[in-house]
Amino acid sequence: MTMPNDSRKGNDFTEKTRAIIGHRAGFRCSHPACRAPTAGPSAESEAARSDTATASHIISASPNPPARRRRPVGDKTELHGPDNGIWMCGTDGRLIDTDESTYTVETLRHWKRLAERRAHLAQILKRDSVVLADDDTISHPLAPLYLPVGPTRDLVDRIDTVLIEACSYEVWGAAPTHVIRELLAEIVRNAASYGGATEALLTVEPTRIHLTDNGAAFDLLSLVGHQNGRGGQAALSTVLRDWSGSIFVESEVTSEGNRYTVALIRTIKQLQAVTPCTFTLNYEAVMGHAEPVPSDYDQCSVVHLIWDIGITYSDVDEAHAWVAWLRELGKAVVLVAPPMSDGLQEFIRAKFPEERLLILRRDVA
Ligand SMILES: [Zn+2]
Repeated sequence: MTMPNDSRKGNDFTEKTRAIIGHRAGFRCSHPACRAPTAGPSAESEAARSDTATASHIISASPNPPARRRRPVGDKTELHGPDNGIWMCGTDGRLIDTDESTYTVETLRHWKRLAERRAHLAQILKRDSVVLADDDTISHPLAPLYLPVGPTRDLVDRIDTVLIEACSYEVWGAAPTHVIRELLAEIVRNAASYGGATEALLTVEPTRIHLTDNGAAFDLLSLVGHQNGRGGQAALSTVLRDWSGSIFVESEVTSEGNRYTVALIRTIKQLQAVTPCTFTLNYEAVMGHAEPVPSDYDQCSVVHLIWDIGITYSDVDEAHAWVAWLRELGKAVVLVAPPMSDGLQEFIRAKFPEERLLILRRDVA
């Protein structure tokens, strides 16, 4: 039987649609840790091609098990359009079709978007290997994920898998991701050993990662400044010392247990997206035209005081009253300021020895 040129076999994409899906991904696997090339020559003939890819359905084209990611879909043609396909190598194509709990529609759509962004950048930069973290023009979101990570012996590997699949290596870069992996692993270890935690969950949101454990209430940030502390203290100290300008860490005690938030931030706007616990010290506030409302901070154990006015040595004392006010409310204070000289940073640290200082870029309007 001869097949018409662009026919579809069963629930597969048509050849034409399949080619669009592959082309848009640069004919590379869309798994963030794989990116394997899937197109090459075959020795069988001058015209033969070797194609090792699978164009997988994001939402299943089949309404019946064992198909994964089945959804009621009104318009069937959408199921067979290029939007609903993701280009995978053979191995990863099988992987995503055996686990719909991990490889959700949202996660795969995310991978597809990043794969296409990567292919686009590779093309315009004329480079094969592109790390999105180096792409300063856009801050890419992480892929949403929700996974238990232990506590188990293979805890570090599990956390690493989550970070890979959330695209943290790609979007945040390898160096901060390693630091975050080590910190998260230490927090889970501490929670199990000292807090009796039996469960730890990682939830990845577009701009931040939450870790929750069901152990005894524990204030992570209370470890800061302790000498010769345990592993958790060492990991946290590294974050605060070497990454104070970019890795955000917060811990809070909730009714379900301890909840930690970790995020990579470079700008004040990104900080505000990660936490509602900020107060902006701008001209209005200093002049008394914008009074802060204490009840806005009921949920906050830490408040970020954002210095949004030109800052000179003479202005530093301006912050004292605000820091004192927040401390009276029982809040820890983190000072947030735009980039400045080392000398001025030293000066601020000397004036506010109890407070952390976070240096973040102002967003260009
Ligand atoms: Zn792959």
